[in-house]
Amino acid sequence: MPMLKSVFYLLSQNERLNQFAQKYSDKLGVNAFVAGTNLKELDLNTRMLNDKGIAVTIDHLGEFVRSSEEALEAKRNILDILDYIYEEQLDAHMSIKLTQLGLDVDEDVCKANIIEILNKAQEYRIFINIDMEDYKHVCQSWKMIESLKDDYDCVGTVIQATLHRTREDITQHSDMRLRIVKGAYKENEDISFSKKKDIDAHYLMLAKEHLLNGNFTSIATHDHKIIQELQQFIIQHNIAKTSFEFQFLYGFRTDLQESLSQDGYRVCVYMPYGVDWYGYFMRRLAERPKNIMLVIKENINRRRVEIK
Ligand SMILES: Cc1cc2nc3c(=O)[nH]c(=O)nc-3n(C[C@H](O)[C@H](O)[C@H](O)COP(=O)(O)OP(=O)(O)OC[C@H]3O[C@@H](n4cnc5c(N)ncnc54)[C@H](O)[C@@H]3O)c2cc1C
Repeated sequence: MPMLKSVFYLLSQNERLNQFAQKYSDKLGVNAFVAGTNLKELDLNTRMLNDKGIAVTIDHLGEFVRSSEEALEAKRNILDILDYIYEEQLDAHMSIKLTQLGLDVDEDVCKANIIEILNKAQEYRIFINIDMEDYKHVCQSWKMIESLKDDYDCVGTVIQATLHRTREDITQHSDMRLRIVKGAYKENEDISFSKKKDIDAHYLMLAKEHLLNGNFTSIATHDHKIIQELQQFIIQHNIAKTSFEFQFLYGFRTDLQESLSQDGYRVCVYMPYGVDWYGYFMRRLAERPKNIMLVIKENINRRRVEIK
């Protein structure tokens, strides 16, 4: 299985396959993990979740940004989604990636783009989460976030439990709204934990620390054992249900999403949206090759609908 994980991870970084895949999204079972390749599909899925009392965080997919023009285009798409959330009064916020806004092209371009987004988000009172990417972008991302966080209270980011450094990051940024994840990227063993039991223990430690300090925590995992342990911790420490939420990726553990929501917990679903779905899709297969079953089921369901 580790071999299969590495293959999917390597495939996720292949730019040519990304271009090829965009043409065949409807044939590949992408709808199992992607909340829409167009606004109509995204709208339908967002409203379906909002009707059940579940919030969403929208990620306008975009990777392999290689020029300022592509970064500007990504920024425009994000601004359009902010308008859409505001005008439709949806229970939604946005998740964005700094590389999408030009971090690899020119830091100043990236900063100008993110500032424009945060200005609009602040005006609309919509939260923006800056997703954390692979290790080679982590330092730059924190530098950018630190330069913004004093001017904007609508911005937060992500702590990846797989990285050793996050023990310090979480303490240093205890004043921020943070999403705690295990980490989606394959990293070197000198900077990260590789065993599941070590990652899980670190995850629990980080989540508990942030829950206790009172700033908003997004518990983003599909791992029911971690969720159960944190539920007990929350009860023991009398932590208000308004100060945290459970986050899931679109299409994952929908029963658990709904049962937590029915039990009065805040639940938020991460909605990847757009034609640039390839890297995201491959990372989901890399972290759990069993997810292929979801893709196969999605394909079978789609064919059934076509035959009818
Ligand atoms: C909302 C959200 C936002 C994220 N944002 C980022 C980000 O910004 N940066 C980043 O690096 N990563 C991000 N991730 C990805 C994250 O880092 C992990 O790669 C991903 O969540 C898989 O880890 P896991 O915590 O779900 O547990 P895993 O270790 O993958 O799974 C643990 C256990 O949970 C159960 N399980 C998992 N999936 C399923 C399933 N589909 N059905 C049934 N049981 C299942 C199994 O028992 C499994 O053994 C995000 C994840 C979420 C949920």
